[in-house]
Order: sequence, then C-alpha cells, then structure tokens
Amino acid sequence: MTSFDDRPAFSYEVYAVKYAERDARRNEHFIGGDPHDASMPMDYFVWAIVGGGRTWIVDTGFEQSDADERKRRLLRTAADGLALIGIDAASASDVIITHLHYDHVGGFDQFPMARFHVQDREVAFATGRHMTTRAINHSFNAHHIADFVLAVHGGRVVFHDGDADLAPGISLHRVGGHTDGLQVVRVHTASGWLVLASDASHYYENMRAERPFPVVFDVGAMVDGYRRMRELADGDELIVPGHDPAVFEHFPAVSDELTGIACRLA
Ligand SMILES: [Zn+2]
Repeated sequence: MTSFDDRPAFSYEVYAVKYAERDARRNEHFIGGDPHDASMPMDYFVWAIVGGGRTWIVDTGFEQSDADERKRRLLRTAADGLALIGIDAASASDVIITHLHYDHVGGFDQFPMARFHVQDREVAFATGRHMTTRAINHSFNAHHIADFVLAVHGGRVVFHDGDADLAPGISLHRVGGHTDGLQVVRVHTASGWLVLASDASHYYENMRAERPFPVVFDVGAMVDGYRRMRELADGDELIVPGHDPAVFEHFPAVSDELTGIACRLA
C-alpha cells in the first residue's frame, strides 16, 4: 500500500508483447493438478515501460533453439515483437530480468547496448548448488546462464538486493518463490500502481485462487508473493500475470493489427 503522497508526478505507459505460445492442460498449471482436464494454453511475453523519455524492457524471451528443444511455438523474437510497438531492441539501454529461466533471458543477445537489472539471489541461485538437480535446473538453459555470467564480467549487469528504485515510479521487488531471486516490477501509471508479476503468478488463477504453479522453488514464498503483489498494486486488475492469454481480454490491443500480439496495460 502506498500513501497518496508517495505518488510520483508522472506516469508510464506499459505494454505486453506476446512472442510465443504452447498448448497445455489445466492439470499442468496447479500443484496437485486439477480435476477438470481442459485446455489451458500458455502465452509467453516480454514487457515494455515507456515514459520520461526512457524505455525499460522487462525480460528477453527465448530463441528458436529453445523453442525446438522444448516444443514451444516461437512466433517472433523479443526484438521483433518490440519493433511492432516502435521499440528498438538494438539501442535499448535498460532491461529488467525478472528471473533467469530460459523463457525470460534467452534473447538477451538481442539487446547489445543494454545493462541488465537482476537480483543478487537470482544469479547466486542460477549458478549455485541447486543447479546440480534436474528437478530445479530444468527450466534454465545453462548456455544462457554462461552467457549471462560473461555479461556480469563485462560490467553489463546491475545487481539489486530486495526492493530497489530504478527511477521515480519504477521499482523492483524480490518475491522469490518460483525461483529464489524472482523479482516483480512496480510501475506508476495513469491507472495507478501496476505490478508486472512475471512468473510470480503465471495465470490470474494461480494468484486469485492461491493455487501455486508447480514449477516452484519455495511454495511458501510464492504464496507470500501473491500477497506482496496485492500490497504493491492499486487493485488485483493491475497485477499482470506472466503467461496468461487472458491478459488480452483484460487490456486493449495497441492497434487492430496487433490484436492478440501487443496490448497496452496502462
Ligand atoms: Zn516464464
């Protein structure tokens, strides 16, 4: 929760761009499965925050090799998707990495000028002892992590520890859960405080029903994360899940041509 006085003077525009999809069933998306064996497809997004003459990208998607390996449908790269809303990945200065899973950091080569904002604990997690376990490492691509470590040594990674302000009206908040260092992004918009949940909640239903997604490092932290996001956002409708096709029902398309591809969150 925030007091009225905390509100920054200006607001940002926020966009979601879909770059990939896969077919899936309900029982894949909840711990303990689901009694209704129905289709529940998954969308993959990157996000953009625009305002004050600057742009922040959130996550970088994956590449064709990831799609082939994991049988996902890559529809467009992160860079191609962002180009559809007029954002040039090649010159982007700041990219927030919510976590280091293959589908959130795979395309980071598409942002050659950017520095990457990540949590201390996520890098420690992705390079540490838990990565010796298939049950935990299977959503990481070791090649992406190795490349990311090279970016650390190249001085292109900005580390954050817990809550951090990036600019007036944009802040990062580590919630953990899905991965140890997962962070969500809080943005001040014309609609109020909006939270990009990324995989703190894959679907609206995970958070609203408190039924956690089964790819999870710490279930307790994941549920605490749902509650934390509710404190950070000015309403549940301003918490944007990381993989839910229903995002396109809740927010308007950027244009008719981009229906089902890019929507404006605020
Ligand atoms: Zn994801």
